[in-house]
This record gives sequence, C-alpha cells and structure tokens, in this order.
Amino acid sequence: MTAAADGGLERARRVLALARRVVVLAGAGISTDSGIPDFRGPQGVWTKDPGAERLATLDAYMTDPEVRRRAWQVRLHSPAWEARPNAGHRALVELERDGRLTLLVTQNIDGLHQLAGNDPHRVVEIHGTMRDIVCMRCGARTAAPAVIERVRAGEKDPHCETTFEGANCGGILKSATISFGQQLSVIDLARAQLAVEDADVLLCVGTSLGVYPAAGLVPLALAAGAKVVIANAEATPFDDEAAAVVRGALSEQLPRLVEPIAEGPAAES
Ligand code: NAD
Repeated sequence: MTAAADGGLERARRVLALARRVVVLAGAGISTDSGIPDFRGPQGVWTKDPGAERLATLDAYMTDPEVRRRAWQVRLHSPAWEARPNAGHRALVELERDGRLTLLVTQNIDGLHQLAGNDPHRVVEIHGTMRDIVCMRCGARTAAPAVIERVRAGEKDPHCETTFEGANCGGILKSATISFGQQLSVIDLARAQLAVEDADVLLCVGTSLGVYPAAGLVPLALAAGAKVVIANAEATPFDDEAAAVVRGALSEQLPRLVEPIAEGPAAES
C-alpha cells in the first residue's frame, strides 16, 4: 500500500505537528486553484503545447525576435495579473504565523505567497519573478506593469530605455524569471540549501519535483536527516522516500495539513 492510500493526510499531519523548523518547497500546483495553469500537469501549458517550452529557453529568447514577441503576448495575457491567493497559499501563511515556517522556497513566479501574507523576507523565489523586468544588457530592473503597458500599446519586442550619458541602452528586456539555460541566483540557492539542512521537515507542495536544482533540495533534506512530506496531485520521483504523501487539491488539503491536532481527552486517574 502506498503512503498516500494509507492515510497520507493523517500521517503528514502528525509529522508536521512534531516539526519545529519546516521548509516549504512550492511549485506551480499551489496556484492552479487560483486560475494559473501549471506547465507539466494534465492541464499544463506544456502538456497541451510542447512548443511553448521554447519561450522559456534563454538561448531562443535572446536570439529569436519571434520567440520574444510570443513571450510578451503570453506575459500580457497571463491570468497571474488578476489571480488571487487561494486557501492553499493561506495555509502556508498559517504555518508561518504559528512559528514553524523557517523558509518558503517557491518555484513560482506569480508573487501569490507574498500577496497571501507570507513575509517577503522568508520567501525565496528560486526561479525569479514575473513582477519585475530586467535588461539583459545593462541589468536595469523595473516593475513589470510599465513594460507590459508598452506591449499593450503595440510594442512587439520592447527594449531597454535606460539612458547612459544621453544614449539609450537598447538592450533586450526579459521577465526577471529564470529561463532554461540561465543560472539561478547563487545566494538564493545557498539560502534554500542551508535552510533545508537545518530543517526537521521539507514540505513539498504542488511540484512535480522534476526541475533541478530545486528538486535537489529533496535528496539534500533526506541526507541531512529531515523528513520529507509531499503534497501533490500526481506521483513524484521521491514519493517512495517520503515520510508521507498527500494527494488531492492543495486548496483543500493544505488547510487540513497545517491545522493543529486537537489534544485527546485527558486520561482519568
Ligand atoms: P510542474 O508544472 O512541473 O508541476 C506541477 C505539479 O502540481 C503537477 O505534478 C500537478 O499534478 C500538480 N498540481 C497541479 N494542480 C494541483 C492542485 N490543485 N493540487 C495538487 N497538485 C496539483 O510545476 P513545478 O514543479 O513547479 O515546475 C514548473 C516550473 O514552471 C517552475 O519552474 C515554475 O517557475 C514555473 N511555473 C510557475 C507558475 C506560477 O508561478 N504559478 C505556473 C506555471 C509554471
């Protein structure tokens, strides 16, 4: 019998109730109930259109104007701009409020953890954020809405308008997200790894655990003696090594997972 079929939620609740230092590794599955599709799930963007993966590849983005034009249109019409946090995000806020969450490492770029109320200083956006835009030449960083408005007004492939001694930079602009072929922030990765090595529990939510180096936090946690709890609709490569596996929609399961376990009636003497 699998851990999930064998009362995975109850087992996960007990593991979490005993934990004092929990690190969360979140993925796109926590935001699908907010209306943002994941990439690799059954309704995922790449499952339906495998060609879309090219838009998230650094080399293609930097060399092919057509890829950039498509990427800006996808960004312009992203449901994430209007999305609101769901009960799954709010459950992770509860975990922080009761003092157990040491770090929330998210692969998501949508900013919904911070909107839900998690302390931004406790959130590591390991794959960056769609809420900022960065110039790939001069490194200037701006809030996304200003550039998105230029795309809405008709610019197909906006370039950097930062001026240096009167001259326009003109560099290629890109979401401040980490594309395939792009280095993660060394500091973000180190923060995540140190927190995992110091944790009692690594709670993985809504991630297929197929994207590295983020998924590498799971073997790191196991090697450091932490328990791993996985909450995801589908099987992941690490289910067999997890202390508990929870299936079902995260907006329903995460609130149950973090709610305190009621004390039983006092024993009579
Ligand atoms: P993924 O697409 O590889 O996997 C998501 C997993 O979540 C799937 O296994 C799916 O079965 C599960 N899932 C989907 N909805 C669920 C629900 N309601 N309840 C429980 N489980 C559910 O996602 P990933 O592992 O996070 O990696 C994909 C990459 O795509 C990440 O790097 C991330 O940056 C990016 N991404 C981000 C967003 C976002 O910011 N919301 C959305 C799509 C993709």
